[in-house]
Amino acid sequence: MPIRLLSPEVASQIAAGEVIERPASVVKELIENSLDASARAVTVAVAEAGRRAIEVADDGTGIPAPELELSLSRHATSKLFRAEELFSIGTLGFRGEALASIGSVSRLTMTSRVADAPSGARLKVEGGISGRVEQVGAPVGTVVRVEDLFYNVPARLKFLKSDVTERRAIDGLLTRYALAYPSVRFKLTEDASVTLQTSGDGDRRAILAALYGVEVAKQMLEVTAEEDPSTGSGQVALTMTGYISPTALTRSNRKEITFFVNGRWVSDTPLTTALIQAYHTLLMVGRYPMAALFLEIKPEDVDVNVHPAKAEVRFKNQDRVFSFVQRAARRTLLAYAPVPSVAPVLWGGMGRPVESKQVGLDWSMAGEESQKSKVESQSSTGEPIVPASDLRPSTFDLPLLRLIGQIGQTYLVAEGPDGLYLIDQHAAHERVLFEKLMAQHGQRKIPSQSLLTPAVVQLPPQSAQLLMTQLPILNRFGFEVEEFGGNSFQVRAVPTLFAGAEPESALRALVEDFEEDEAPLQNEIEAKLAGRVCKRLAVKAGQTLSPDEQRALLNDLEACESPRTCPHGRPTMIHLSVDMLERQFGRK
Ligand code: ADP
Ligand code: MG
Repeated sequence: MPIRLLSPEVASQIAAGEVIERPASVVKELIENSLDASARAVTVAVAEAGRRAIEVADDGTGIPAPELELSLSRHATSKLFRAEELFSIGTLGFRGEALASIGSVSRLTMTSRVADAPSGARLKVEGGISGRVEQVGAPVGTVVRVEDLFYNVPARLKFLKSDVTERRAIDGLLTRYALAYPSVRFKLTEDASVTLQTSGDGDRRAILAALYGVEVAKQMLEVTAEEDPSTGSGQVALTMTGYISPTALTRSNRKEITFFVNGRWVSDTPLTTALIQAYHTLLMVGRYPMAALFLEIKPEDVDVNVHPAKAEVRFKNQDRVFSFVQRAARRTLLAYAPVPSVAPVLWGGMGRPVESKQVGLDWSMAGEESQKSKVESQSSTGEPIVPASDLRPSTFDLPLLRLIGQIGQTYLVAEGPDGLYLIDQHAAHERVLFEKLMAQHGQRKIPSQSLLTPAVVQLPPQSAQLLMTQLPILNRFGFEVEEFGGNSFQVRAVPTLFAGAEPESALRALVEDFEEDEAPLQNEIEAKLAGRVCKRLAVKAGQTLSPDEQRALLNDLEACESPRTCPHGRPTMIHLSVDMLERQFGRK
């Protein structure tokens, strides 16, 4: 083929592909425009996860009618004029590409009015072809309505994920922007139901609850840090505010770590690494903190023009920013939770055994040496040692044990034919509940018990979406849970096994730590969900158990198929053999 210039339509569709990937990208660009226009209220409505329609309305400055058509052309912007200004950008937008891109892959209607105009103006664009500007009645501000996204790029449509996933992306985006701009009122409506609404009163913690749920939000630690002016030019050049999770609150992935730099959400950032380093040695292998952090840095110290969707930034002095983030987070953590001075963890969770020499005793995990080396060989990956769905009978049955008692409100002590057993009551109970539940499930008869008063549980929008997809599975497990409107659910019955436990806890356990792209086989997902509920509802460390409860737990554990590990693979017990005791006491 000869070389030809691309037609403007083709060129703009290609360019649009870099900026507009999915409905959430449209929402992001439009709300950034609203924020740049000094809006105090931003209202977003989506239909069918944004595939059918996305509408963003604001009360910002508006666009003068004569500029309306221009605003929809490529490289048209009111935010940047000279190339030098690229290094002092104070707005979210500057490329003049978003509206043109969206307009080239959808049917877009923009209505806008500036304060001193007697009426508003409206313009429609379809697949990049623009209509005429009409005069209409409109309030001051701008409304952009995007319909039939990608109607003319069917290949893009095929790449969209399920509605649930696309909606989750939109929910997550809105919640994070609401958190970054607490003085702006945000409202998100999805198919006629309001999923997020903020007051704009500047209170971040209230919004944090929308992102993480009330329980988690209450525990998050507040960060406020300023770089010591003496390290820089004499002025404060770097500040960080926001929230980080205490060490007890973790996730299995980094997705709950959010950074904003100068009001811009940046993803995939090395800042995440800096934060994780602040938790070094404080978290178990494979666990990550949660955070929503807002960094302010002088515009000339950061390059925002490195990514088409402006999702990445580059710092002039990366090391300085890193160590600032790391130190600020570390200081916050230590201020709230001093590191214990003695921590002889014998079997740190998720298989991170301390060298046996360090504790001076020849601790061996009950049973098998080979099992121990398996633990060690896999621990570095942070993966659970035994997959949650592993129900194969273990070859290491328990001998009959005689209960001696409970110590530290955390461990049961028992005597067996060959020495002493220390049993972690939480891990043991988890195992017991899990096997009972899965056995009942296997026989397709899980007894359930109705609650006297049904419990209503309110979840953050993203979690609610997720739970919706899991309702049928839950109902197979003996729960009776129904949608109750506005991200809440009504629990009417729970499996008899969990009678007496908080139904709210059970529901929350199901949606925490869920990986977005997790699509395991049906039986895996069931075992995984069951494992999560059992973990949440098992007795905790620090809970006093009556002698009868202790005995019952021990008996139940003896009856388990794999009594020596919890469903997540942590050991339930440590065995101190008579032989080992004799050697330690110098009798041998
Ligand atoms: P950019 O934001 O990079 O300038 P856009 O294509 O997103 O590019 O928008 C083009 C221009 O349209 C903006 O520079 C701004 O002047 C105007 N504009 C877009 N959305 C709004 C809005 N909601 N309120 C006021 N002006 C807007
Ligand atoms: Mg823009």
